[in-house]
Amino acid sequence: MKDINDIIVIGAGTAGLTCAIYGLRAGKSVLVLEEKMYGGQIVNTPSVENYPGYKNISGFEFANNLYEQAKALGMEYRNEKVTGIKTCSEKNGLRAVVTEKETYETRAVVIATGAKNRMLGLEREKELTGKGVSYCATCDGAFFKGRAAAVVGGGNTALEDALFLSNYCSKVYVIHRREEFRGDKSDVDKLKTKENVELVLNSTVEELLGENTLNGVNVRNVNDNTLTKLSVDGLFVAVGQVPDNESFREAVKLDDKGYIVAGEDCRTGTDGIFAAGDCRTKGVRQLVTAAGDGAVAGLEASKV
Ligand code: NAP
Repeated sequence: MKDINDIIVIGAGTAGLTCAIYGLRAGKSVLVLEEKMYGGQIVNTPSVENYPGYKNISGFEFANNLYEQAKALGMEYRNEKVTGIKTCSEKNGLRAVVTEKETYETRAVVIATGAKNRMLGLEREKELTGKGVSYCATCDGAFFKGRAAAVVGGGNTALEDALFLSNYCSKVYVIHRREEFRGDKSDVDKLKTKENVELVLNSTVEELLGENTLNGVNVRNVNDNTLTKLSVDGLFVAVGQVPDNESFREAVKLDDKGYIVAGEDCRTGTDGIFAAGDCRTKGVRQLVTAAGDGAVAGLEASKV
């Protein structure tokens, strides 16, 4: 057991790091536990253009700024995977955050674990991941310079990925299961001006092709049921996220999709445990709402 922390934040994405900043500025000790690298999902966004105050900033730079800001305020940061939250019954009100390495006592816990990429659920998807199939255009896009690639999805991530890839790839197909895009119209309009981008609408990826590495996809048009082969070396899957909250099922209530049930005050219904950002039930999951949640949760947790 380590010293008692005022606040432990689980997850170092936009919500978690913003929460740390608010907790630290309220004079609390804050330990942030993160399983992977800090930054969360926004690290994979090539260009953020809808965060107030920035006309354009890369997701990586945004995340880095946030991390440095929290560090400068005194955030303690550890790379550890949290496996659960328990109640220290003998010490009234305190919680124990259990990781694969340690158990930490704290007055308040903020869960800010975000969400992870949804898979398409296709045969051979796992086998071909890293061999043509990717979930991160920013990370892997440059490997496909001068080659053809496809993006699947119709949200902001897919649109931004396609715009990013259009700078590298000879051809970019955007495969979306409907006629209308879910993502911002401004990005759809930009894509339509790109000569090397082709929108493949009302279509779903049915099969991944290639022996050891991907060399194409079979795409089914859902209107006329025709099957078309697209010769691509890369397939970027951007079909949304799913929450990653199973470790907290015993500590807080989850909804039927696995999101933590919490309101705008980020309270979970379990004393001393808050949920902030994409991991909680909410209508709008944006960078700015993740930051907003982080601020609310940081201030609420500081009152415990
Ligand atoms: P999203 O908005 O949930 O969009 C997922 C897309 O994938 C939808 O178009 C959906 O189609 C499609 N889809 C879902 N399951 C599918 C399947 N099994 N097969 C084929 N297509 C499937 O996800 P996202 O684009 O990752 O964005 C997540 C959140 O982050 C959103 O709120 C988004 O606005 C936000 N975001 C913000 C920024 C930014 O602020 N700069 C950048 C990226 C993302 P349907 O439309 O038919 O449901």
